[in-house]
Formats: sequence, C-alpha cells, structure tokens
Amino acid sequence: MKAMRFYAPQDIRFEEVEIPEIGPDEILVKVEAVLTCGTDLKMYRRGHPLVKPPLIFGHEFAGVVAEVGGNVTRFKKGQRVVAANSAPCNTCFFCKIGKPNLCERLSENLIGFGVSGAYAEYVRVPAPIVKQNTYELPDNISFEEAALLEPLACVVNGNMGANIKIGDTVVVIGAGPIGLMHVQLAKIGGAKNVICTDLKEERLKIAAEVGADVLIDASKEDQLKRVKELTGGLGADVTIEAVGLPQTWELAVDMTRKAGTTVLFGGCPSGTKIKLDTQRIHYEDLTIKGIFHHTPLSVKRAYDLIISKTFNGKPLITEKMPLSELEEAFKKMIEGKCIKIALQPTGT
Ligand SMILES: [Zn+2]
Ligand SMILES: [Zn+2]
Repeated sequence: MKAMRFYAPQDIRFEEVEIPEIGPDEILVKVEAVLTCGTDLKMYRRGHPLVKPPLIFGHEFAGVVAEVGGNVTRFKKGQRVVAANSAPCNTCFFCKIGKPNLCERLSENLIGFGVSGAYAEYVRVPAPIVKQNTYELPDNISFEEAALLEPLACVVNGNMGANIKIGDTVVVIGAGPIGLMHVQLAKIGGAKNVICTDLKEERLKIAAEVGADVLIDASKEDQLKRVKELTGGLGADVTIEAVGLPQTWELAVDMTRKAGTTVLFGGCPSGTKIKLDTQRIHYEDLTIKGIFHHTPLSVKRAYDLIISKTFNGKPLITEKMPLSELEEAFKKMIEGKCIKIALQPTGT
C-alpha cells in the first residue's frame, strides 16, 4: 500500500509499504478520509518525542473495515467506521482514579505516534481502541465529518471541564479547528454570548458560521479591553484558550471574571512558563484548568454529536486533497489558508 512516512523534521516520504497485519482482537480499516492536524504539522516541523522514525503518521481518520480479527464480534468487513487514536488500559493508576485521558499506557497504542498511523491506504486499529473507541458510521455521515471524532472528543472533554452554564458569556481565544469546535459546543451547551478572537479575518468568518455571536480581530483591536466592555467590566464567565501560547494563556485568565473558569486548552511549547496574579486567584476565587486529550466518555459524546448532526463539522473541512500532497497541505496550514484538509489515500 501507499503511505506517508515521517523520517525527520521536513523529511516525509510517500512510499510503498506493507499492509499492516492485525491481531485477533484488532481490525484493519481502509482509510477513506484522514484529516490534517496541528500536531502532525508540529511533528513535520520539529519531530515528536514519542515517535521513532520512520513512522506512518496521521491519526484523524474514518474508513471501511477491510479485515477483522478472529475474536472481534462487534465489527464486520465492509462496515463504515470511525475510531479515536487511542484508548486507555483501564488498569493503571490514572485509569483507576477516573482519569483515563492520562492513562500511563496511552502511547503503546497511540495511532500515528506510538504505532503506525492513518496517512496510508490501510490502518491497523489496536485492540483497546477496537473495544472502547471505535464506532459504526451511518450512511448519511461523510468520512470527512466522521474523521473529526478525535479532535472533537478532546474538545468535548475540555467543554465538560469548562462547566458552561445556560446564559453564560464564553470567550474562545483562537479560531483554529479546536477553537471553532469550542465555539460550537459552547453554543450547543446554552451559552448566550460566545465571543471568538483571532488574528485572521478568514478564520473569524468561519467562527461566525459555526455560531460565534461576537468576533474580535485581535490584529486590529485590544481583545482584553473589548471583552471587558462587552461584559460590563466584569470579564467572561468562562474563557477557553485554544491557541497554545504563554501570552494568550495569561490573557485568558485576565479576561475571566471573579469566580469564573479559565480553561487552558492549547498546548504551549515545552519549557514555557506563565505569570499569574496571586491576588486575583485568591481574592477573586478563580478556577484555572488544564485539560488534555479525551476519554471513552468524551469520544462517545463526540460520536453522538456527529451522528445526530448536532455538531456541524462541514465548515471546518475547507479542502480535499490526495494524500500524496500532504506536504502541500502542511504549507497551506503554515500560511493559515485552511482549517482542516481532508486527505484521500485511494487513487493517489
Ligand atoms: Zn489531532
Ligand atoms: Zn491506564
């Protein structure tokens, strides 16, 4: 089969490789759509600590079951399916305390990082994922929309932690794919006023399309000042940072009202630190949360949002390209010319 393998930063190769062999509790999926992700772009630019090259990367996918292991009863050949990129072990310390998103064995089966990924014609789905985080797709859901399952599951997990209440004012900093999903989930959850900020006008347009009530172009105006104005000087009930920079993390806390919640969702470059006002945290009763990855519960909820069409993924997929042009897709991402690109491995 053809697959895109990561060798080193700026060195990825579209080449012929063996179709993966599956174990008795696994399935093989013929990839029909695989989406670009900011993490893949980071890997392309800088490498990734979990990855031992050469590795087929790519982890947001949907497709058709091509082969089923002997012990698998839930799936059969020809079925349309979507799967998350990992699943917890359910036996380690963090799984036992109800934090399966921090499972100590996550990387052992992490598609596109610890094991071969979905930038390929076929992908092997490891047993824990088959058991916990793989779902059948109805015919009226496209493979591209379904492939949003994994990032949406992360955002659902973040949304659950944000504790948004009906009528809340929510600020989402960053209108990339993750920020746009947060905007939509905040509206679905009953937020009255969702304010979205970004530096790029094209992205803000999509934020409006998915439900943002107020757009702030941070390249043109002071976003903190504007949020304060819009909230009668109080600040937002909930602020979600979806950029991943120390300065926007600090800004997110500054934008949040007394007794409000700040979710620091975007991952910052390693080694970076932020400064927080201790007085504010204490006397203003602030809740500041970091939230990472997904859980089987958030994957299930994301799946339900997608198949019920409560969540609209269409505006997030701005383009389709053949998998062979992944490098071109990454260039478009660097230039900020797209949200997500759906890549098709077949026929390339
Ligand atoms: Zn991703
Ligand atoms: Zn575990």
